[in-house]
Amino acid sequence: MHDFVYKEKSLYCEDVPVEKIAAEVGTPLYLYSRKTLERHFSVFDGAFRAVPHLTCYSVKACSNIALLRLFARLGAGVDVVSGGEIFRALKAGVPADRIVYSGVGKTRAEIEYALQSDILQFNIESDQELELISRVAAAMGKQARIALRINPDVDPKTHPYISTGLKKNKFGIKIEAAFDEYKKAIGLPGILVTGIACHIGSQITEVTPFVDALKRVRAFVESLAAEGIAVKYLDLGGGLGITYNEETPPHPSEYARAVISEMQGMDCTLILEPGRVIVGNAGALVARVLYTKKSEVKNFIVVDAGMNDLVRPSLYDAFHEIRPVQITDAHEISADIVGPICESGDFLARSRQIADLSQGQLIAVMSAGAYGFSMSSNYNSRPRAAEVLVSGDSFSVIRQRETVEDLVRLESMPDYLK
Ligand SMILES: *Cc1c(COP(=O)(O)O)cnc(C)c1O
Repeated sequence: MHDFVYKEKSLYCEDVPVEKIAAEVGTPLYLYSRKTLERHFSVFDGAFRAVPHLTCYSVKACSNIALLRLFARLGAGVDVVSGGEIFRALKAGVPADRIVYSGVGKTRAEIEYALQSDILQFNIESDQELELISRVAAAMGKQARIALRINPDVDPKTHPYISTGLKKNKFGIKIEAAFDEYKKAIGLPGILVTGIACHIGSQITEVTPFVDALKRVRAFVESLAAEGIAVKYLDLGGGLGITYNEETPPHPSEYARAVISEMQGMDCTLILEPGRVIVGNAGALVARVLYTKKSEVKNFIVVDAGMNDLVRPSLYDAFHEIRPVQITDAHEISADIVGPICESGDFLARSRQIADLSQGQLIAVMSAGAYGFSMSSNYNSRPRAAEVLVSGDSFSVIRQRETVEDLVRLESMPDYLK
């Protein structure tokens, strides 16, 4: 459910015509609905109200500080995967004791920053990381609160690039080794064992993989308890999928019911790290048609947003619904909707049935709120798009469009070229 709807023949975001925003801000632009964001967060978080829990929004899905503040005001914590994301979270006003930090490649500087900030928990992904965190914390006269991220070896049945809980993936510590790792952790000077974590993948559209993972984690927690090692936090990660096309993911309440029932009798605070399910359908990428090209074999609609703005179609062969911002009487054609980047892999949609658009018309690439702007780049020296947040009948630019000056701001000439 989202708040991009047609009124008459015009696409609106909440009560604002998309056309109006594009005219004022220019294109391409990312558009988010506050109402959808808040509803999605509240529905997800509310689904777990029966158990002690902390919903830690996954910052990498969409990292704008305005969104982070919006969620923090609703009581959210955050899941971060870099020092940069810790910085964003703190800047947005997320309390440090609601930040959990995952990722396979935490650097010493990032670890120091996280300890200095006194975050809630490190989710540790390797033996060497555990040792480094202990050393750094001890040197700072601190104890790092940690969970080990277990790799439960379950198949999330999603795209291979976003599946993370299989043995062959780089993430987490394999469950067979984790037991000894916990025993080691409790003896380390800079470490305070507080939790256990797993995250099996993204865009998961069934409950079963989550339940399977939780069953394994639960059995593992019980064997830890038998050794006198208690964990306070059980972090189940994120990964709940959304509808891009015809997927029918479980509703958050169904997911929550399954999780809560599987946790029956456990004395843990549940941590959840949803990203996509909160922001995915709350955002759209708005672009303008530059040219149309027709031939006997193919129709192309060239728009002013490309794979640098939204890489998911190119990277994952992902489907995004594409809507005309103004509905016209034009007949439908089959076309590739492509960007201006010099790569054949630069497309937003291929062989798509769509109204025969003409130059200057606007399109909305739907469900682009997650892994959209946050994965965008400057490839082909394209300034990154603006981000706009709509609230009711008003809208705010929450990230200005980059300028060409921004592109070279950090570059400099060596002396011999001056
Ligand atoms: C990316 C990520 C998430 C969020 O995943 P979604 O599929 O967007 O819900 C949560 N936890 C970790 C550790 C992640 O890497």
